[in-house]
Amino acid sequence: MVYDLIIIGAGAAGLFAASKAENINILLLEKKDRPGLKVMVSGGGQCNLTHSGYMSHFLAMYGDQKKFVKPALLSFDNKQTVAYFESLGIECFEREDGKIFPVSLDAKAVVKALKEDIDCKGHKKMLQKTPVLDLYKSEGTFKIVTEGQLYEALNVMIATGGRSYPALGTEGDGYAFARKLGHTVVEPRPGLTGVVSGKISALEWSGIALKEVELVHNMLKARDGMYTQRAVYKGDLLFTHFGISGPVVLNKSRYLEKDDLLYLNLIGMSSDAAEKLFLETAGDRPLAFWLNQIKLLDRFKSELLKALGLTGQEKMGTLSKPNRKALIKWLTQFEVKVDALQGFKQAMVTVGGVDTTEIDSKTMASKIVEGLYFVGEVLNVDGDTGGYNLQWAFSSAVAAVQAIEKRCL
Ligand SMILES: Cc1cc2nc3c(=O)[nH]c(=O)nc-3n(C[C@H](O)[C@H](O)[C@H](O)COP(=O)(O)OP(=O)(O)OC[C@H]3O[C@@H](n4cnc5c(N)ncnc54)[C@H](O)[C@@H]3O)c2cc1C
Repeated sequence: MVYDLIIIGAGAAGLFAASKAENINILLLEKKDRPGLKVMVSGGGQCNLTHSGYMSHFLAMYGDQKKFVKPALLSFDNKQTVAYFESLGIECFEREDGKIFPVSLDAKAVVKALKEDIDCKGHKKMLQKTPVLDLYKSEGTFKIVTEGQLYEALNVMIATGGRSYPALGTEGDGYAFARKLGHTVVEPRPGLTGVVSGKISALEWSGIALKEVELVHNMLKARDGMYTQRAVYKGDLLFTHFGISGPVVLNKSRYLEKDDLLYLNLIGMSSDAAEKLFLETAGDRPLAFWLNQIKLLDRFKSELLKALGLTGQEKMGTLSKPNRKALIKWLTQFEVKVDALQGFKQAMVTVGGVDTTEIDSKTMASKIVEGLYFVGEVLNVDGDTGGYNLQWAFSSAVAAVQAIEKRCL
């Protein structure tokens, strides 16, 4: 039998594509013994399906891929995602922060609903524990090789995900298929991941959360070994046992590299404002008074005094200018070197993947091989935290399946 479409990978994008397809014969091949394993762990098992808001706001959440993701997101947006899940019996709700979840907060129920929708249609079939080993095109059709079987299809959708959380089936197989078929793969790197810092892990700061921190990112220029400022980010930050994490670090990790320097403002005040306040308060008052006045956390205070060799009882007016400058710098530009990013085992997504310049952004079709489609995270697209990655998986899947159905008419 020649299938209209074979989908490789029954994750978020593969399941959604199969569920949305109306009139074509589909075979869905999944490597693991259950489909949608990564969806099941998403949002801490609660599944942050998408985010509320206008698409203009959405587009900024995909780093440099704004232009590429636009057509698919516009033609199948967050509202359509919610409506579709509700049609499958998954009621959704919006949290205060705009994240959208199923009311049941049960990611397994989301996978079950998609699977049941696929199972009940005669023209769709799913095989689990069936890893695709090879893929090639000959005599006008795709040949899909699994252990002991050769399947044939007019169209193939590669929905194998990225490389993060490899134990869930995502080991980067799609990149090998893409390269074999002539595509370029932008080197995959861990994304939505924390920064490992020996300096921070040696401190007892784990668990401290800061709101709306300003974080200055300086990059090391390979050629002359000098640092240059890349950007200033703002958002919530968390100190952990390994270094730093939290939304601002996770979302910007796509831009970070080993040995980059990050400067954190620990007091939410510019250095000029902090110095002005210091000078206004100075006099016979002890330094500890001022540190309390700016509401510095005790755990920061003890490290600051240790770093500057002070006790806190020094009269502010007696502090030398270099000491005062060092104090203000420590508070407003606390230096953290990126020793490493957490690896693929901890990263929530993969940065990099199949080069989007070789893909039609309206249909997800390969510009190199006719009938070949890439959807979801296997592409060089990664979104911020907040439901943007699942939304991308769903929107790209719909774009591809609609194009394939047109081809098969
Ligand atoms: C811990 C965690 C939490 C997350 N939480 C959220 C969240 O709340 N909201 C959000 O938007 N995003 C979240 N994400 C990201 C999101 O889950 C992914 O971006 C999304 O699942 C990608 O969809 P996909 O279909 O491209 O790949 P996946 O969902 O990863 O599916 C790929 C599938 O392909 C299969 N496969 C791979 N190779 C083969 C092969 N050779 N043959 C057959 N099958 C194969 C895999 O087994 C897998 O089932 C989270 C990710 C992680 C790791």
